[in-house]
Amino acid sequence: MPPAYVKTCRDLLCYEAAKLEAVAARRPGDARFILDRVKTLRVGPLRFDEVEDPARCLFDGIEAAPGGEWLVPLEKGGLEVASNLVPACESCRASKGNRDVLAWYKDRRVRVPRAVWRRYLRAIYDTWEKQGILEGPVPASEAKRWSTVDVER
Ligand SMILES: [Zn+2]
Repeated sequence: MPPAYVKTCRDLLCYEAAKLEAVAARRPGDARFILDRVKTLRVGPLRFDEVEDPARCLFDGIEAAPGGEWLVPLEKGGLEVASNLVPACESCRASKGNRDVLAWYKDRRVRVPRAVWRRYLRAIYDTWEKQGILEGPVPASEAKRWSTVDVER
């Protein structure tokens, strides 16, 4: 479970982003570091510096096929926005199919790579912003789903 200061949808996204930063800074799980980063991230729109190679599949790094893949399929509530579309190869697209990307990893019992998690946070940020729920409480269904995500460390 996230700490008590995580109250809104925005808080949750910033908290997850801060945990990623803590890992990158070789301070995984450092609560003080994470809280400081959350305070900073919370102020503006959630952005990441890392830029992916559009020619490489986000999931396995091989040559991407034209068209890309939706992290959250449109029919599962995903938005038709750039942050929800990622470069992907034919093989990953076929394997993932119509699943949410987190469900795809979970079903295969594979940990979610940090680069994928980062992209997912961005897509969800844009989705929740568009839905106007960023400053609202985290829906119980989402809190439950997120608490079981197994991200690579
Ligand atoms: Zn691939």
